[in-house]
Amino acid sequence: MSSYQASVLLVDDDPAMRRILSKWLERDGYHTSGVSDGREALEAIQANCPDFLITDWEMPQMDGLALCRGVRQMNLPSYVYILFLTVKSAPAEMIKGLEAGADEFLAKPVDQGELLARMHAGARVLELQRRLGQLARTDALTGLTTQRVFYETLEREWARVKRSGAPLSCAMLDIDFFKRVNDVHGHPAGDAILKSTAELLQKNCRASDLPCRYGGEEFCVLLPDTTEEDAVRWAERVRKTLSGNVISNNGRDLRITCSFGVAQRQDDTQTAEELVDQADQALLCAKQSGRDSVVAFQSLSDANNVDVRKSSRHGVFQDITASQVMSPMVACLGQDESVGQAADFFLRSRINSTPVVDADGKLVGILSEKDLMAAMVSLKSWQTPVRDVMKPNVIWYEEDTPIETIYEFLCRVSIRRVVIVAGDRPIGTISRGTLLRWFRNLVVAKGLLEHELNAREIPNADARRSRHRMTEAAGALEALASDLQSRLRAERDVVPYIVGGATRMQDLVNDLLAYARFAGEPAGAAKPLTVNANHMD
Ligand code: GH3
Ligand code: MG
Ligand code: MG
Ligand code: MG
Repeated sequence: MSSYQASVLLVDDDPAMRRILSKWLERDGYHTSGVSDGREALEAIQANCPDFLITDWEMPQMDGLALCRGVRQMNLPSYVYILFLTVKSAPAEMIKGLEAGADEFLAKPVDQGELLARMHAGARVLELQRRLGQLARTDALTGLTTQRVFYETLEREWARVKRSGAPLSCAMLDIDFFKRVNDVHGHPAGDAILKSTAELLQKNCRASDLPCRYGGEEFCVLLPDTTEEDAVRWAERVRKTLSGNVISNNGRDLRITCSFGVAQRQDDTQTAEELVDQADQALLCAKQSGRDSVVAFQSLSDANNVDVRKSSRHGVFQDITASQVMSPMVACLGQDESVGQAADFFLRSRINSTPVVDADGKLVGILSEKDLMAAMVSLKSWQTPVRDVMKPNVIWYEEDTPIETIYEFLCRVSIRRVVIVAGDRPIGTISRGTLLRWFRNLVVAKGLLEHELNAREIPNADARRSRHRMTEAAGALEALASDLQSRLRAERDVVPYIVGGATRMQDLVNDLLAYARFAGEPAGAAKPLTVNANHMD
């Protein structure tokens, strides 16, 4: 029985029987306790789950059969091996016992040798059970817990912090360019890196933290009693440790870096899965903004992001919101459309990415040319629905988000475009290009770069400049509209012209709106003005 002392619960209404069994078992190294009927036994098991249950068949209150059924219905931390003591040895009775969940029978009067031999056989079964459980709970390569255990623990922590209000964070990390490591150095080298990474991760965790191998080269760490700020600090430290780690394999020194996403549970985080998903979204951001970095989920949507560079921005972003700057959406894709249809849409509309919506028009993902390229490997992929190839982690902002927040985000990450939503419906996008165009219009309309003229000294200078620009934009709109008209008459496939034309018209309308902000009072006879700002289109 090694050093582990297995526990046995003895259930019999005859105290003499309990005494003798207890004596034999204690002498053989077991720890025993006893109760006199099924009901008491269920309570004792609930309070303290034993390894073995030895029960009489006939007892007052609740008999052995009902007890057996009851135990098998309980959600217990480990398997209980059940031995029936019985005078009933007819096959029909044995079948009843087995069906109720018994593992073994022992005929009364009990023989000491037979009892101990059956207990040893039961111990072997329990050891196998334990090992199987261990396998399901521990990742064989790294020795870390599995995703399953992670979620079990997370659910428990979730319930705890919901009551206590203590902070709870989650960090998701993924090895950068790991496929390349496998390709260049071979799978065993990849395995060595995974082991070493897991080891370092474990070393950098407190006893209450739970690191797990989430899958492949992805790890997830549950950080109880940790705010997002502290989680970021922790992740930064681990990131540096991991990037400095040299792994020797076959005489070669290998190094890797990792990207981290971090999220803290907020009052409006609905489920444990949502918390993990937020850490995952932040991780995606870290990947897209160059890898080997830590991104916090709050920073993706934090409107109060303080930045030291702010003071040098002349307040140009003040009071401007996303909906004033965005390019309104021309069209978007439904998630049930096929990859082939999406490709057609991209090519005809000359776009390289689009939001994807569900049947109700709600934003569910984003699809880029790159996602379509990945689907080009087989003809079958051409038929798959867009939902299977799109990226579900879209970065989106509400229409009333201060434009400064989006500016800072697009400055920081390699994502080129964010989606603007009203409620949960996409209404437009803001790309780096959109921002540049908006800023250019502002500079032009306000004459911010006119060195030879001091804008403040000329009455209505902003207004005159804006009038002039508006006249230009209106003229361009007119030309586009008449071009569209002639295309509609002459061309067979008009979609590219409609979509392309509409996009350009939308840009011009945005320009008009931007200039209108500064047009003010009528400027009299608007003379053309020389503007030093570089045109960007
Ligand atoms: P990224 O920086 O974007 O994460 O790039 P990546 O190459 O790390 O990502 P990708 O998901 O394309 O590749 C993950 C690779 O991890 C592919 C797979 O072969 C490898 N991998 C997953 N599990 C194991 C494992 O147990 N052992 C080894 N050696 N490789 C694994
Ligand atoms: Mg009895
Ligand atoms: Mg990776
Ligand atoms: Mg991965």
